[in-house]
This record gives sequence, structure tokens and C-alpha cells, in this order.
Amino acid sequence: MAVINILSPHVADMIAAGEVVERPGSVVKELMENALDAGAKNVTVEIRGGGATCIRVTDDGCGMAPDDAGNCFARHATSKLRDERGLEAIETMGFRGEALAAISAVSRVELLTRQAEDREGTYVSVAGGNIQDMRPVGCPKGTVFTVQDIFYNTPARLKFMKSDRAEGAFCVQQAARVALGRPDVSVRCIKDGKEEFFTPGDGRADSAVYALLGREIALSMLPVDGENEGVSVSGFISSPAAGRGNRATQFFFVNGRAIRSQSLQAAVEQAYKNTLMVGRFPACVLYITLSPGAVDVNVHPTKNEVKFSSEKRVFDAVHYAALSALQDERGTLEMDLSRSTEKKLAPQRPAPAAAPDQTPGQTRMELHSPRPAYNSGANVVYRPPRPAPAPTRRPMSYQSSARPGLTGPRPSPAPAPAGTEDAPVRVAGEVMRTYIVAEQGDRILLIDKHAAHERMVFDGLKAQGRQAMGQTLLTPQTWHPGPEDMEAFRANEALLTEMGFALEPFGEEDLIIRAVPDSLDPAQTVAALEEICEKLKKGGGDLARDSVLQTVACKAAIKAGWDTDPAEMQVLAEKVASGQIRYCPHGRPVAVTLTKKELDRQFGRIV
Ligand code: ADP
Ligand code: MG
Repeated sequence: MAVINILSPHVADMIAAGEVVERPGSVVKELMENALDAGAKNVTVEIRGGGATCIRVTDDGCGMAPDDAGNCFARHATSKLRDERGLEAIETMGFRGEALAAISAVSRVELLTRQAEDREGTYVSVAGGNIQDMRPVGCPKGTVFTVQDIFYNTPARLKFMKSDRAEGAFCVQQAARVALGRPDVSVRCIKDGKEEFFTPGDGRADSAVYALLGREIALSMLPVDGENEGVSVSGFISSPAAGRGNRATQFFFVNGRAIRSQSLQAAVEQAYKNTLMVGRFPACVLYITLSPGAVDVNVHPTKNEVKFSSEKRVFDAVHYAALSALQDERGTLEMDLSRSTEKKLAPQRPAPAAAPDQTPGQTRMELHSPRPAYNSGANVVYRPPRPAPAPTRRPMSYQSSARPGLTGPRPSPAPAPAGTEDAPVRVAGEVMRTYIVAEQGDRILLIDKHAAHERMVFDGLKAQGRQAMGQTLLTPQTWHPGPEDMEAFRANEALLTEMGFALEPFGEEDLIIRAVPDSLDPAQTVAALEEICEKLKKGGGDLARDSVLQTVACKAAIKAGWDTDPAEMQVLAEKVASGQIRYCPHGRPVAVTLTKKELDRQFGRIV
């Protein structure tokens, strides 16, 4: 007996819906992408009851002709793809003609749409995939999709829905991701009657980042701009000091489409090597533009993942653009310093003679803004997705002066202009018992001695790996840790031993400390142990290991306010000047620099 049964189109749609419409948030994404494909400049997303009750997306795009308004719910109905050749270079967000069929199979949908050239619009209502009503109506140009009662006819799905609060948050998150991808489109998102975000759609990536990710993240961002063999990369990455606890603020857009990619995550994160604490992650919003033919978006129903014809080319473009942005960060530090120096010097110094075509104000702008600050209203403007020029072989055009080929070794980020880092370093002295003043070639370094030493000890401890040396204490100390700390100690005894601590129980509630890591100041032992226990209580593993190392490094490091040996200062200054040490283990910079040219300008020797 034959057992194969051809499924009805409706059942096939319900199955496909499982792939496309996983949660209400997927509906938000699909409807917004359709609005973008329709050329909308303004999109409004409204969400009620976690999205399951109602999702409405209104756009001012091209709208649909009456026939299309009826046909758009059919499976494989699309205006974006004609034949298989079209699949090779997709320039729209959609192309599979699946979303509306899938959404309408598992919910009740109403559509209002009108093309600019038509006098009347069309109203269509669909439930469980069947058209219920369709008639001409008057309505504004554009399209409104209202999706209600998601999964009302698939109880199995409904069971997997999370709380309204969680689903609602996911809807907003999806809307934000789509909006972030297109700073040239204004998006308003309203949840349960309350505005969640609004992007101005002025085409500036910084406006979108500010509106969607907030002030704190926006202000920590460095502009990125690079291009390599037909792959251009723009947007922002966070400064090393602003590392985050997870990867939730990493966004990648390929020709305007939000994608997930572990390889691109790695491309960015590797640029932070040694500057970001282990367990911290950079934030990034990166717009990658390349020829549509060089990327395959047809690898997953939700189109969240893509394949590049040359993964390496894209990886390198992102990696080097990020590296270059981090290198340029030094410019920001110099800028800050000269601004404050300027404040102090301003009253005593005559205004520098302005060139005939320059007002003094302009001179100062130029003096203090070697790079526009991120929020100063200048330079990163989002480029809407456009086909990139056909890949040609040409040298990389990053902002840095070094332009090595992609395959050759690239010099590691150097803090000084070419040649300077080899020049001898002379320590001029120490100020405020905190900062070392050193001179090298044409620049002055101001080094935070505690931060620099902390980094040096931290790197040393990490390099020792599992054979950290302990120093036996001449007089063992006793420690009364309290029950919680005692428990943390017991659970992590092996880790502490590995770092060079030797502790033994002494009675029920005390411990005797016989040895401590050799870099640790014995006087700091108990303070260090208390801080370590505090961290261990939060969890174990490699993260705990690093955070313990950090505490040891911090307690071992020379402190601001202490007298420091000149030989020690020399070692630190040399490490900093050579670029080996740039950030303390917490991610703060260890030095700021001031060049002779900047000083000459400040004193009006040059304009
Ligand atoms: P796809 O986006 O893959 O083409 P969809 O099922 O999402 O498939 O949409 C089907 C078709 O309906 C689209 O190709 C488009 O022609 C039309 N359409 C959907 N949404 C809109 C909209 N907001 N404005 C204009 N046309 C739309
Ligand atoms: Mg679509």
C-alpha cells in the first residue's frame, strides 16, 4: 500500500512557519524588512501583549497594487526574485516569498496598502492562511500590516512562548537591530502604548547608535573606517576601557542586513588582544558593504547567517579596520590632554596670531581636534547598502600610515610615530608621586605608575602560567576569614595554591598563611585574600583565575603616593614607550603623550 501523502499547501505553510516565525519578534523583523524593501523612509512598529496580541508595522513605502495585495500571502509570492540568476546577487532583505505566507498561516492578518499612483487602496484580511475579506478602501500611501493572535491555531507553539514581558522585550530588540542596520530610515517603536525608541533616519550611524544603544555606549565608541579589496567597513567599536560583560552589544550588518557571525566577532576581538580584560567583550556596530554577488544570504530561512565568497577577505577587512581604529584612539588621549593643558595655559598666553583667512577660533579647533570626537557632529556617516565596486587588487586604504599587504605580517599597534619607539627613553622625574614624566624622541610621556606596573605584574603572572612562585613568609600570618570566605577558600584551594599561596587550617575557623605569590607585598596579604574571596564567591573557572590574578597584580603593584625607585621607573617607562604596555588589566590607559609639535603650538611658536 502506498504510504506517501503530498501535504496540502496549508500544512506546508504551517511547517515553514515554524522556521520563519519562531516567536512574535520574528514577525517584527520580517514585516520591518518588507517595509525597508518597499523603500520606506519612515517605519512605525507597535507591539501589544508581548507581540502575541498584536504587532502593527506601518510604512510609507511603495505600497502594493490591488492584485498584489491579494497575492502577497501565497507561498513563494515575491516581487524580489524572478529566476535562479537573481539568487546570485540579492540586494533586498527578502527574496524567498515565505514570510507573509508563514505569518498568515499562524495568525490573523489585516493589510491596508496603497501605491502612490493609485487613487484607492486595498484592504485584505486573512486568518489561518485563508483570505476572509478583500475590498477597496481609502488609505494613505504605503502599507500597514496588523498581525493579531499569533499561534492562535497552533497550541503547541503557544506553549513555548515566554512571558509577555520577555517576548515583548525580544520584539523591541529585533526592531532595534533592524533600525540600527539602516540609519537612513527613521524608525519609531511603541510597546503597549509607550515609545521604546525613535531613530531620526538622518543617515548618520552615530545618531542611530545613540538612539538605540544609549549615551553610555555611544560615548565609549571609536569610529571605524576601512576598506580592503572591495569590502568596506564603517561604524564603531568600543574603546578598550569600555569592555562589556557579554556580546549582546556586538552588531554586524552586511549590506544593511543584521547577521550573526562568530568569525567576525573573532575578527574584532582579536584586534583588542592584550588591551581588553579576559572575560570582557567589546561593543561594536559595524557596517560591512560589499558586492551582493560576493555574499550568499540564502543559507538560512531567517537569513541571520550569510556565507562570503571570500571569508578571509571580509575577516581581514573587519580586523584591520578595528585595529586601525584602536590605534587612532591615541589621538583622542592626546586631544584630551592638550585641551586641559590649554585651559591652564590660556590666561597667560597671548592668542596665537591667526592666519589671515582664519579666525582664532578656527585655529583652536584645528589645534585641539586632530580627529573629531565621536559625538562632535562629524565624520561617520552611514553609507546605505550599495553594490561595492567589483573587487580589484589594490592596496588597503586604512587611516594608519602602515599599509602592508594582507598576507604579510602587520606591525603590532605602536603607540608612537614611526621610529620614535626605538629612541632612548629618559625619565625626567615623577610628579604628584603618581605620574612618571619621561621623554622619548619628540614626545613626552606621562605614565600612571600604578596602572603600568599593575599591567606588568599581571602579564608576568599570566606568563608564569601554572608555576607561579610563592615566597615563604618569615613570620606566618593568621587569617580569620569568616564562614563565607572560608567556604570560597575551600572550594578554590587548588587555584590559590597554583598562584603561589600556601594556607593551612588552624583550628576550626582560622587559616595560617605560610606563603604568598612572590610579587605580592606581604603586608597586603590579608587585603588581597579578602578581595580574592569576594571574587571567587561570584564563580570559578578561567574567569575567576584571571580576576584573582588581577587582584594579586593590583596589590603587588607600586601605588600612587609611594616613593618609587628610579631604576623601577626606568623599566616602566621603557615598557610603556615600546608599546608593550598600553592598558592596565582593568582596561584603563597607562599613559598619555604630548608631542613637541603640540607644545610648540600651545606656546604659539608655530600656528
Ligand atoms: P519576500 O519579502 O521574500 O518577497 P514576503 O512574504 O515577505 O516575501 O512578501 C511578499 C511580497 O509582498 C513582497 O515581495 C512584496 O512584493 C510584497 N510586500 C510585502 N510587504 C510589503 C510592504 N510593506 N510594502 C510593499 N510591498 C510589500
Ligand atoms: Mg519579506
